[in-house]
Amino acid sequence: MAGRLERARARLGELDLQALLVTHTPNLRYLTGFTGSSGWLLLGSSRAIFATDGRYQRQAEEELAPDLGFELVVLSDGILAELAKLAAQQFEGPRVGFEAQHLSYADWQRLVEAGRGAEWVAVHGVVEDLRAVKDEAEIDAVASAGRIAVQALQETLPLITPGVREAEIAAELDYRMSRLGAEGPAFATIVASGPRTALPHASTGQRRIRAGDLLLCDFGARWRGYCSDLTRTFVVGAPTARQAEVYRLVLAAQRAACQRLRAGASGAEVDAAAREEFAAGGLEDHFPHSTGHGLGLEVHEAPRLYRRSEEPLRSNMVVTVEPGLYFPGWGGIRIEDDFVVTEGAPRVLADLDKVELRALPP
Ligand code: ZN
Ligand code: ZN
Repeated sequence: MAGRLERARARLGELDLQALLVTHTPNLRYLTGFTGSSGWLLLGSSRAIFATDGRYQRQAEEELAPDLGFELVVLSDGILAELAKLAAQQFEGPRVGFEAQHLSYADWQRLVEAGRGAEWVAVHGVVEDLRAVKDEAEIDAVASAGRIAVQALQETLPLITPGVREAEIAAELDYRMSRLGAEGPAFATIVASGPRTALPHASTGQRRIRAGDLLLCDFGARWRGYCSDLTRTFVVGAPTARQAEVYRLVLAAQRAACQRLRAGASGAEVDAAAREEFAAGGLEDHFPHSTGHGLGLEVHEAPRLYRRSEEPLRSNMVVTVEPGLYFPGWGGIRIEDDFVVTEGAPRVLADLDKVELRALPP
């Protein structure tokens, strides 16, 4: 945690800011250890003022790292305005950054009004950029979240038979992840079947599974705040030649992307590797989303693996690789796994069989 604050402060220096107001909950957790839903951090070069309301006083006292000098302020209401005043008074001639992507317009107005005397500067992704490279404990947490998800899926598969509804399968996955120690699902579990699998971001529905259906499960667990995010696609009964072929193409695209996934490569290069695989078969238009995204305290975070990600990837970034092919009316197939970027081949964080399109008993 000390190293994180130090790196954040170095960024303040580079941006010529006297302080940064951190409002985004995952960023707060990353910098302070506080896991509650109501907190604000005013981080200066030598001071760190943490504000919360009365509901979270005890929790903040327990969770804020004691040796890092957080000054705890408990306020009953108008917290943002009070903090803005503090910022204007406590830091000299202050240029104070705020997280432009996470502050509402109404809150920004409060800041500017109450914090007259400070210059409020919109900053983007300062803490997110630090979060993109993980330490060993964070990587272990994602790996644990991955193991829980894999185990939950293995326990759920025998329950899937024709007649079962998508929502029942999703509920089984969620229930089993919780029983296995997850804090909950990392995001709303997606179970889609039949033609609904053609929706790249389907939500779970009430459709009943039928023989011959493709069945897509996109889900993950949250463990100690960290997310896993996996997708597997199955077929109920024996696969058709077309289903097996599309599955092979998607798997080949995932492998091609992984071969290019390493420190120094850009997200765009990794994305292109998957896309080229589909283009060879004239299917590039059937892959309408990016190849992957960073994973950590949030299920979608930096870096992204897509066309415009020109920045080089760094060792110990954690990303998903999730190509898919979707055909309206027919269905879709996606395969998603979580990886650690290294100087060499990426390290997979959850092991789950995917060599061929797995047939569930009809
Ligand atoms: Zn996913
Ligand atoms: Zn994903």
